[in-house]
Amino acid sequence: MARAAEVAARFEELYGYAPDGVWSAPGRVNLIGEYTDFNEGFVLPLALPHTAVAAVARRTDGVLRLHSADLDAPLAEVRVDELTPLSDGGWAAYPAGVVWALREAGHPVTGADLHLSSTVPTGAGLSSSAALEVVTALALDELFGLGLTRPELAVLAQRAENAFVGVPCGVMDQTASACCTDGHALHLDCRDLSLRHVPFDLAAQGLRLLVVDTRVKHALGDGAYAERRAGCEAGARALGVSHLRDIAYEELPAALADLTSDKVRRYVRHVVSDNHRVAQVIGLLDAGDVRAIGPVLTDGHASLRDDLRISCPELDLVVSTANAAGALGARMTGGGFGGSAIVLVESGASDAVAKSVLDAFAAAGFAAPRVFPAVASAGARREA
Ligand code: ADP
Ligand code: MG
Repeated sequence: MARAAEVAARFEELYGYAPDGVWSAPGRVNLIGEYTDFNEGFVLPLALPHTAVAAVARRTDGVLRLHSADLDAPLAEVRVDELTPLSDGGWAAYPAGVVWALREAGHPVTGADLHLSSTVPTGAGLSSSAALEVVTALALDELFGLGLTRPELAVLAQRAENAFVGVPCGVMDQTASACCTDGHALHLDCRDLSLRHVPFDLAAQGLRLLVVDTRVKHALGDGAYAERRAGCEAGARALGVSHLRDIAYEELPAALADLTSDKVRRYVRHVVSDNHRVAQVIGLLDAGDVRAIGPVLTDGHASLRDDLRISCPELDLVVSTANAAGALGARMTGGGFGGSAIVLVESGASDAVAKSVLDAFAAAGFAAPRVFPAVASAGARREA
């Protein structure tokens, strides 16, 4: 594979010897189930063809060296026994955090040299950070013979992002990157991490899933995730359950009537109904009725816009324009306040729908978004 060979060659130039191996891990888009993972609910992501590729060699002298081909940042070098959480290590905190999390869990990781390059767009809600973490975790698992399962690697990668980098994300992104398979979406239960690979071959159905990266990131999003998370926890407490996952869709009207805060009521309605939408989409996919998931995606967008209130004008414009131009459904995906939306279209209508979105952005005075098809791809793997 050309990219793996290229990354290995750059490793050799940089460090003066050949790597022990080359690994890759993808970014992801989430089809449905947003802000449900930390509520121990359900999600349905798929891996993108875009990957982080890392050439890695094992070291036994306690030294960790990290380099990215995609940044101007110099080679980072640190001793594994001096890794400190939340020390603002910039990009290197993601792979360094994985080393820290593995060691914290008692795994004897005694150093490494790593060079990576990624095609996952960064900061677009497509989990470039999880790709970095998971490719590091998989490489170290193999090089140190740790024998961890994919879900275990995902949990350690999440721990790295939460406790070392300092981002309070759920477990979906890392699990998608570690566990997805080609041609399938991943139905993940975020309570017990049980998962099922759901066939998702859109091309065979004459369909296409477009990702529209709005290329905006509104500052508003910075504290919003933690605020929504706290609101969901308040909702669970008020309803006497450990997590909102424990409220069944049928119980939603009664639960909403029990809540006194309008804001908490909106958050609860979003989470419980989005968990239900995951079940609806799974049912439709299993029944082979793929086109029928379109309106469910659009309902999910309305819920994120009106109840969770994490959308923005650019994301709303993608959804309204795409649907008006004949898409089967669309929604924002990821953390919100910018990032990406997904659009389900008939393959034949794909170019026209994409053009409508581009034209609408130009007319609104927004920067041109980046549009590309999401083909359900493989999860992390060894490349060489
Ligand atoms: P997302 O995961 O949605 O893309 P995040 O803000 O969580 O956005 O992660 C983006 C960060 O991950 C970047 O700011 C950078 O620190 C790191 N990162 C992603 N890709 C690369 C890369 N190719 N090289 C170096 N760092 C990267
Ligand atoms: Mg991220």
